[in-house]
Amino acid sequence: MKNKTQSTNEGKILKGIGVSPGIVIGKAVILERQRTRFVPRRITAREVGSEVRRFREAIIKSKRELQEIKERILEKGFKQHSYILDVHIKLMEDRMLRDETIKMIKEQLVNTEWALEVTLDKISEAFDSIEDDYLRERKEDIKHVVDRILRNLTGRELRKIEDLEEEMIVVAHDLSPADTIQLNLKRVIGFATDMGGKTSHTAIVARSLEIPAVVGLEDVTAYVGGGETIIIDGTEGVVIVEPSQATVKAFRLRQQHYRYLERELLKYSSLKAETQDGYHLALEANIELVDEIPSVIQYGAEGIGLYRTEYLYLSRRTLPTEDEHFQVYKKLAEEIAPYSVTIRTLDLGGDKFASHIELAEEMNPAMGLRAIRFCIKEKEIFKTQLRGILRASIYGNLKILLPMISGVEELRQVKAILEETKEELMARGVPFDPNIPLGVMIEIPSAAVTADILAREVDFLSIGTNDLIQYSLAIDRVNEHVSYLYEPLHPAILRSIKGVVNVAHKAGIEVGICGEMAADPLYTLIFLGMELDELSMNAIAIPRVKKVLRRATIAEGERLLKEILQFSTAKETEQYIRKEMAKLFPEDFIQCIE
Ligand code: PEP
Ligand code: MG
Repeated sequence: MKNKTQSTNEGKILKGIGVSPGIVIGKAVILERQRTRFVPRRITAREVGSEVRRFREAIIKSKRELQEIKERILEKGFKQHSYILDVHIKLMEDRMLRDETIKMIKEQLVNTEWALEVTLDKISEAFDSIEDDYLRERKEDIKHVVDRILRNLTGRELRKIEDLEEEMIVVAHDLSPADTIQLNLKRVIGFATDMGGKTSHTAIVARSLEIPAVVGLEDVTAYVGGGETIIIDGTEGVVIVEPSQATVKAFRLRQQHYRYLERELLKYSSLKAETQDGYHLALEANIELVDEIPSVIQYGAEGIGLYRTEYLYLSRRTLPTEDEHFQVYKKLAEEIAPYSVTIRTLDLGGDKFASHIELAEEMNPAMGLRAIRFCIKEKEIFKTQLRGILRASIYGNLKILLPMISGVEELRQVKAILEETKEELMARGVPFDPNIPLGVMIEIPSAAVTADILAREVDFLSIGTNDLIQYSLAIDRVNEHVSYLYEPLHPAILRSIKGVVNVAHKAGIEVGICGEMAADPLYTLIFLGMELDELSMNAIAIPRVKKVLRRATIAEGERLLKEILQFSTAKETEQYIRKEMAKLFPEDFIQCIE
């Protein structure tokens, strides 16, 4: 493997995968996810009183901190995140935790930190013997609570996302999608991680939140101690640790230039997504959070082509109720009207996980009981969501999209559940749109190969290239060690997409792409040549793609597609497409000479 780290007098330069564009320069903070073990220390009988007092004071301080965090979260309108804090505040009052620790300090004459650690171990063991997913999660909560008390006992900085106060660049081994959402609550201006790939959900969330980020750096945590200046170039995938003054200056200029380009591109937001010869390719937005509605509108999306609803289930302790689903979908339907909102049903699993629905530990979660398979099994959870969508369908234009469909049998099972749900609503006299369009994601190779069969039984298809690439090429989308094999231009992928578009059109239905490939302007002409109806992407990418589209013609797209379908490798295709795009749009594409 090539060495990706370079030490120069410009600073330490690390190369990773740029997943969210933009340049930021700031102070680094390391987010520790590992706990420090404390050592036992003997105390005298006379010290018992002050040890117990120290313990009680640390609990009071920790509770106060949690209360403050909760208030700040509520002020920002993130009500769904506050429940977890209530649980933690309650756990601070847990008798077993408190009484056992005090008993040990008194009887064994040991320091509070050690007594607390041992009590935690005992509680954890007790939880381990219970086979209940919910209780197992409580164990994690108790750990978090103990961490906070320990920090207040020792004054040692065990930094967590919620502790960040200043504008910081977060450096971490890994961040979960839920961690990343929390970054938004704080003034985190960028982040860099050892792990991750371009289509990992952490990366997708970073783009949605418009936080410049570089992932897959492998060992950035080894070079950053915290407190030093670092530069994140999320466009180029570069991180520079302790840059020289000259480097900082150069990057500030680049940052200004980048911002200027962004502003220039915004001019395209209000223009039609149409080629010179009048081919309309709808450019829609992918969103994870309702808070993104203003960006969807600002960047000129013609609707929401993918709403990833699993984020409704993250960072909370209970399942969303039918009414919570309904309220969110109603808001989306109303605010995005007259455009449509494609609501993808729960796609849990893989690198997305919820705090309440703990999926069973599997050898291979990406291929396990996840997404639609989970929903078919847990029918009531699924029906609650479907009821929410159906009820909201009368407030605008909603569509239902099913993730991870592997074949028509699975689709028919879901259709039966949907029918059952509709009948129940009808019996209750609840209004809904009986003709709400139903589509499937084409993201499993078996679905791509049988897309003609699926197309006969749905209203639209949406190609999820992130997973289609993952499953077709057998490349884990979050594993940085195989990210070099993640090739969107692999002939297998291009042929699959083209095949799916052809059969969809033959069946008279529309077809779009909602994977990350849709957002890369390098591929826009290829998709144009294939005559896709829709591309859905993170909103910020829309103006750039639109700029290319508006200067192209369908004939150019067809010519390019014909050429590239003859290449045998992704590399040949990429070289060719870069060269051609640089010729057609010299201002936007630099020719790659490698
Ligand atoms: C995809 O797989 O391409 C997709 C759009 O869905 P997700 O990234 O949420 O798996
Ligand atoms: Mg997917």
